Amino acid sequence: MARGIIILGSTGSIGTQTLQVIEQFPGKFKVVGLSTNSNIDLLEKQARKFNPSVIAVRNEEKAREVKSRLRDLPIKILAGEDGLNELSTYPGAELVVVAVVGFSGLQPTYRALEKGKTIALANKETLVAGGGLIMKKAREKGAVILPVDSEHSALFQCLHAGNAGEVKKILLTASGGPFLGLSKEELAFVNASQALKHPNWKMGAKVTIDSATLMNKGFEVIEARWLFDLDYDQIGVVVHPESIVHSMVHFVDGSIIAQMSLPSMLFPIQYALSYPKRWENNFPHLQWEEKSTLSFLPPDKENFPCLELAYYAGRKGGTMPAVLNAANELAVESFLKGEISFLHIPCLLEEVMNKHKLIPSPGLSDIIDADRWAREETLAVLPKIKKEIRK
Ligand code: NDP
Ligand code: MG
Repeated sequence: MARGIIILGSTGSIGTQTLQVIEQFPGKFKVVGLSTNSNIDLLEKQARKFNPSVIAVRNEEKAREVKSRLRDLPIKILAGEDGLNELSTYPGAELVVVAVVGFSGLQPTYRALEKGKTIALANKETLVAGGGLIMKKAREKGAVILPVDSEHSALFQCLHAGNAGEVKKILLTASGGPFLGLSKEELAFVNASQALKHPNWKMGAKVTIDSATLMNKGFEVIEARWLFDLDYDQIGVVVHPESIVHSMVHFVDGSIIAQMSLPSMLFPIQYALSYPKRWENNFPHLQWEEKSTLSFLPPDKENFPCLELAYYAGRKGGTMPAVLNAANELAVESFLKGEISFLHIPCLLEEVMNKHKLIPSPGLSDIIDADRWAREETLAVLPKIKKEIRK
């Protein structure tokens, strides 16, 4: 029987690739639900092709528009934040792919876990902001969270080679992004369009900027801490510009197990969907005859301080990572608009974190409050930075 699946953020980079994987395997899945923020042109096409029972549109005006466009089809249309929450708990699908971007992933993931659904998680911000809460809910409900992020999918696969007590540490690989090797003087002048040109991966704008600052890797450290229940001292980062080795597990006996593939999200998405099985696909596979050099180097923590800021927030724990995440979302938006420079991003984050009064074991409402507080605080600090730039 086909497995029911809901995709939150089906119009994005991960969402569209998830549908591409589903199309590879006719009969395996029944698409029950899809969602978008505002791209209703693509959502309409997806709805006509995959016949879901329900769709959710975050933007309420666009939701009304799509309702009139799809009136010939028996599809339930949900709107706004509540709509996304309702979609994530919708009956008829036990698997929910969380491929929305930013903090908007936290609540629907939490709601889906409350219903005991399996989560295929691309949205790392959910675990950055609310990792403790989310993992507790998953344990309570016996629900499974499968990683979609390529590094965590790699680690999940490598961890099968031993048991939890045999893990010495893990190594997340980082491509280094488009600015690998640049000096501080050079980084002062990089702009958004340069930052959006990632050498190996084609992704949504927010995660692409996070890759350029190394915040993405910092967030992945926090994501790994929660997914695999490790101490921060057990999580290392190594720069690997070819993006072929997606991460490694270093076992106590000195064996290091790595997972490799071409840099394409189709592989980790498929593994989350096929787990615990592996299915044969016709995507292009890595051919060693064509790819013979792999290089590794330490991350440049000085010029890319976001990585250390994430370790700092993660070690502080409580609401601090949620604050880092919220401030970062606004800092990225501001950088994309050309309002602040690349090097201002970490300064802004540090300033907001320094003002935060941390709550040690936050519940859902504490995290939502911390997120709101951090956004307000960031907006209060931003004009000062913009003024400095004008000088
Ligand atoms: P995109 O920006 O390409 O897509 C995001 C999706 O979420 C779109 O469907 C978008 O709708 C929707 N969306 C945006 N904002 C909101 C909101 N406030 N509420 C509800 N829905 C919203 O992002 P990616 O696919 O690149 O990334 C998705 C997540 O996966 C991120 O958390 C990212 O870090 C993670 N990830 C992505 C990878 C990649 O290769 N892309 C790799 C590993 C992890 P609309 O189309 O209208 O904008
Ligand atoms: Mg990743």
